[in-house]
Amino acid sequence: MIGLNDIIGQEPALQQLHTAMRDGRMPHAFLFIGPAGVGRRTTALALAATLLCKKKSGDPPQACGTCEDCKMLAAGTHSDFQLIYKELARFHDDSSVRNRVMQDLGIDVIRHFLIGPAGRAPTRGSHKVFVVLETELMSIAAQNSLLKTLEEPPPGVTIILICAKPDQLLPTTLSRCAQVNFRRLPAAFVAQKLEEFENGIAPSEARFWAGYTQGSIGEALKLARAGMYEIKCDVLNHLARLSSGGDVDTAEHFADLTDKLATQAVSAAKKRDGAELSKSLASRQATGTMLEIIAGVYGDALTLATGARRDLTHSDQSSAVEIIAGRFTPTQLACIIESLSQYEQLLWRNVNPKIVWDNVVITCGSGQEVTL
Ligand SMILES: [Zn+2]
Repeated sequence: MIGLNDIIGQEPALQQLHTAMRDGRMPHAFLFIGPAGVGRRTTALALAATLLCKKKSGDPPQACGTCEDCKMLAAGTHSDFQLIYKELARFHDDSSVRNRVMQDLGIDVIRHFLIGPAGRAPTRGSHKVFVVLETELMSIAAQNSLLKTLEEPPPGVTIILICAKPDQLLPTTLSRCAQVNFRRLPAAFVAQKLEEFENGIAPSEARFWAGYTQGSIGEALKLARAGMYEIKCDVLNHLARLSSGGDVDTAEHFADLTDKLATQAVSAAKKRDGAELSKSLASRQATGTMLEIIAGVYGDALTLATGARRDLTHSDQSSAVEIIAGRFTPTQLACIIESLSQYEQLLWRNVNPKIVWDNVVITCGSGQEVTL
């Protein structure tokens, strides 16, 4: 189990937490703000462990990692700890909530899994901890329902809201929480950590993911472990060879790659969390990831075409980027990037990914937008 002292690269945030603990002035509600993958969730779990462990020691205090509470927390079975996320709706007692399409983190989930349990006494000690993921997805009604609990939580209750976009929260939610900021990590630092964590990852791949994710270790690890580097190299090589009319083989190849990624994601979710990830959702997510990578390639090409002073994301394949940059005017490149973002939005409107790929390839080859 990771303790607060093991968190890397987030010294100011940890200092803030340590000072609060040392002074005995721990806030009851926190808002952990920062991009995904920089340690917000890990820090929230480490803080929860410190609060729930009855054998903590040191200054600042650290969870022991070996007691019954620490073991239960690590196994996800601690009765005084609850992780809150929008998919929890599937475990709601009410079938109408279970069957609803989950667009946001709704009031039913917040009432059933947070406000209700927070009002009941802890079962193992004197603390209860609730960690809310993707708080920016909380509906207005859910946020309003939580205000009273955030302001005056029952004794022993700590609520940690994790959020990437605090401007999407109500001012009343923001003002009731102690805000802790998590920063992006320097690319060189992320690259070094990736090489340490992932046995055998090449320095060039580590540098690529560090730059691509803009300093998010969590995201970089996820993409590296999914074998995305080989895929992105292959995709970029195909794009450099693309003819102006686009070609059916490349579209099919991209669709196949996406399909494989989606299948992998479904089995990984099952293995990791025992969760059922629907193939169509996984396929849309995989297509989204691929489209982002492709948009990054054309972003690099635009950088070259306009002579902008910016490091290339795909500097590991700069000659392929140069070929693409030489094929289009800056205006055409900007148009391609814009189209790619529109294709990504179409995915969420249930357009078949295969049709999306046909159009992506035509646009990437010709610089022309295709209207769907
Ligand atoms: Zn312990």
